[in-house]
Amino acid sequence: MGRDFLRSGFIARLAASPRFPSAARLFTLAAFLLLIAGGLAVPHVSPGLTGILRNTSLASLVVWSLWWPLVIMSAAVLGRVWCTVCPMEMVASACSRIGLKKRIPRFLASGRGVVFFYILALLGFIRTFWAHRYPERMALFFLFLLGSAAAAGFLFNRRAFCSHLCPVGRILGLYACGAALEWRVRDPGICAACGGKNCLSRPEAGFGPAATCPSGLHPAAIRDNRDCLVCTECLKACPSRNLRLSLRKPLSDFFTGLRLRNTDLFLLVPVSGLVVWELAEEWGPARKALEAVPAAANAALGLSGGAANFVQAVILFLLFPALLLLIPAAAGRMLNKTTLLESARTFGLLLLPVTALGHLVKALIRIASRLPYYAPAFRDPAGLETARAIAAGSLKMDNRLAAAVAPAVSILAVLALAGAVVSIGLIVRKSPVLRAFGKAGRLSHGAFAALYGLALLAAAVLARF
Ligand code: SF4
Ligand code: SF4
Repeated sequence: MGRDFLRSGFIARLAASPRFPSAARLFTLAAFLLLIAGGLAVPHVSPGLTGILRNTSLASLVVWSLWWPLVIMSAAVLGRVWCTVCPMEMVASACSRIGLKKRIPRFLASGRGVVFFYILALLGFIRTFWAHRYPERMALFFLFLLGSAAAAGFLFNRRAFCSHLCPVGRILGLYACGAALEWRVRDPGICAACGGKNCLSRPEAGFGPAATCPSGLHPAAIRDNRDCLVCTECLKACPSRNLRLSLRKPLSDFFTGLRLRNTDLFLLVPVSGLVVWELAEEWGPARKALEAVPAAANAALGLSGGAANFVQAVILFLLFPALLLLIPAAAGRMLNKTTLLESARTFGLLLLPVTALGHLVKALIRIASRLPYYAPAFRDPAGLETARAIAAGSLKMDNRLAAAVAPAVSILAVLALAGAVVSIGLIVRKSPVLRAFGKAGRLSHGAFAALYGLALLAAAVLARF
């Protein structure tokens, strides 16, 4: 176990403060409301201008090229730190005070709600409604998220949205399994002897006292980073302060028996499809190859506009990644005489770090490539005049800063994807779940995963060098 940040210092004082994380959440809520107002202030423009406007509108630029990439990068490196300060929990919590406190329906409790919500957001809001291109639609999307958190808090309990609906939290939780930080108890022996167990969940308490983990976790039973929001409430409740926030070796959860749930696997399908697409966008030939099948399908169906976007999204983010998962899963099933689902879940353990690091790479590239837009976006926050000037050719972006950081970004991207390939080897060798899967199946899974990782690595090298 590495350094424990709760022993002393700024993080220890911050985590123990009664005003943390609520003060931080208030700040992020204010930032969210500002971004929503900024998005709504931008008038609707023709589709031809949206590709530029999404970079020149300050609200859009901050959301898609700074906040979201930073959230992804922070999860892969540090764990669910975004969830600690996310304002959704605060909104849900406020609504739950006057709420109905109903029992969570089985559909949501099973985790399928998260998968459904993510597919709705990705295929509907993002890829069909183009919320990432139109600033006002981005704002509506954020309002929808805030409304969903409020409704879930009002109907169920304060953390129903975070635990059973929010796909962002679930994706970050999966990525956090490879992170270098963990929130755990210091001494399991103290917990075993603890009489009060103030940190334990007491669902019957409804909104509950602060001494209850709102996520229904017992800190001593936490085995991986998926579910804990690092909200610090158990630390404040524990009379022995028996909690730690420690550095650890990356991928530790994989080596201590991480096993994907079915819903983790189902979520990984569209997420990995999105990551492959986003990386392919960086290299023309890969993008063309990926676009070929949806284009042919849309031509055959005679579709255009939103319907064509939807069909493209279904193929790229559901069918294609499902196929990439099913092929190794079927091979593993044949070699190991296990079920297809078990084989797919085991393969998912190898797909997860490739997806997380691929997402991190795209986030890094996006942040760096959008650097030239900040100066004009601060001068013209709505971004409309800037977008029109760029479209008319009367304004040229100053790309010097982006060009200066590009070599470092390229090296980091290649190193991260090479790290993904190395991770596959380490997990194949050290994960108890992979080891229990049998030698032939394990090697087959490792070979397929390495093939996918190497394909992404090769695409990155060809795109950046
Ligand atoms: S974390 Fe603290 S309150 Fe919870 S069981 Fe352990 S010692 Fe008791
Ligand atoms: S285990 Fe502790 S830090 Fe994690 S969600 Fe529960 S109360 Fe918050």
